[in-house]
Amino acid sequence: MNPTLEIFSQGEEIVTGQTVDTNAAWLSEQAVQLGFTVTRHTAVGDKLDDLIALLKEISQRADACLCTGGLGPTSDDLTADAVAAAFGLPLQFDETAYRQIRQFFSARNRPMPATNRKQAMLPEGSLRLDNDWGTAPGFALQAGRCWFAFLPGVPSEMRAMFDERVAPLLTRRFTLNPPRLITLKTFGLGESDIQQRLAPIQIPDTVQLGFRAGVDEVQTKLLFPAGYPEQSLEALIHDMAHRLGDFVFAVDGLEDNPGNLASVVDKLMTDAGKTLAVIETTSQGLLAAKCLGSSWLISALYADQPALGHRLGVAIDPENLPQTAARLAQALKNQTSADFILVQLYEGAREQFHDRNRTIILYNTLLLEDDTPLQKRHCVAGAGERKQNQAALLGLDLLRRHLQHLT
Ligand code: ATP
Ligand code: MG
Repeated sequence: MNPTLEIFSQGEEIVTGQTVDTNAAWLSEQAVQLGFTVTRHTAVGDKLDDLIALLKEISQRADACLCTGGLGPTSDDLTADAVAAAFGLPLQFDETAYRQIRQFFSARNRPMPATNRKQAMLPEGSLRLDNDWGTAPGFALQAGRCWFAFLPGVPSEMRAMFDERVAPLLTRRFTLNPPRLITLKTFGLGESDIQQRLAPIQIPDTVQLGFRAGVDEVQTKLLFPAGYPEQSLEALIHDMAHRLGDFVFAVDGLEDNPGNLASVVDKLMTDAGKTLAVIETTSQGLLAAKCLGSSWLISALYADQPALGHRLGVAIDPENLPQTAARLAQALKNQTSADFILVQLYEGAREQFHDRNRTIILYNTLLLEDDTPLQKRHCVAGAGERKQNQAALLGLDLLRRHLQHLT
């Protein structure tokens, strides 16, 4: 039997819907991967009595609890007070925490407001969780049946503290049999297409199958129980990947190139030692933005289609966009030293681009090193932002497909 774990989010903005509780979702995923059975999520506003009551309940029913929020310096940050009252653990001044909070401010050349001293008050007997990413330290303690960890609400701080401080403590304190999560990531196939392709496969009852459709990718997730035979696991994943074909751009948990489409392309380009120049008529700079920090993207040009033709000395023929794209690519290749050139051109008026009820036809051209143009035609629907994002992803995906075939 797995130990049970609850998630507890504190803050008026969570219960009133002003902030989406992403902390709970993220922490649950981590806890499941560590081998816990997550039993409940609860959110409580800034009410001391409610907080105290909930803490007491959880201390009797769960083996572990992860709490976020309410550790700040303001009067609505009540977590430490609630813990003190719920478990009879008076708050004590923690010298080290105070020094760290002061250092946080002095390192930023800011005076420390007097109210921040409050963050150095921790429940008696608790373990301080140093926060190298913000001001408030977290803390952990055993109360009744339950081991509690209290973390700041700010997601980036919370995540870093969970990874660095809390996860190692959890694995030491509990006997855990972590399941194995494998995620097949695809771009260009809808959820129902995926389900149809996978329908003939018999998935054992012990394996949990789930789908998550995002804007940039669809994830097919498989959770294998601890001790599932490796050979059967790999056979099942390979069968699934085979049926999804080259829409699969990454298999997280099995291969060593996880991440999103942009990071997969980043690794492929870096490993291949190749460079790219793009003309982004449709993604309008978003493709370059997705490749932020990469050294292989050596130029990204955004111009309106007519202006583009003028700039590269190529006549734009609206009747033959694929051929125009190939010419533009060649013209750009003559100007840059890039190994690959990617050109987007689209058919349709500018108004069409912005109209969510109308589609555009996008022509992507990838000019390879031997000057062969690899061309793809797509019908892109949705509001302007969606078309822009799809164009960026479709361009990256064309490059990814070419690079993965090479390897
Ligand atoms: P601070 O020192 O910033 O006050 P804190 O630990 O008191 O930290 P909160 O005041 O509860 O944390 O939240 C700070 C911010 O973190 C919130 O304004 C919100 O943007 C974000 N946040 C808090 N809780 C959550 C949550 N459960 N999910 C996502 N974001 C959250
Ligand atoms: Mg706060």
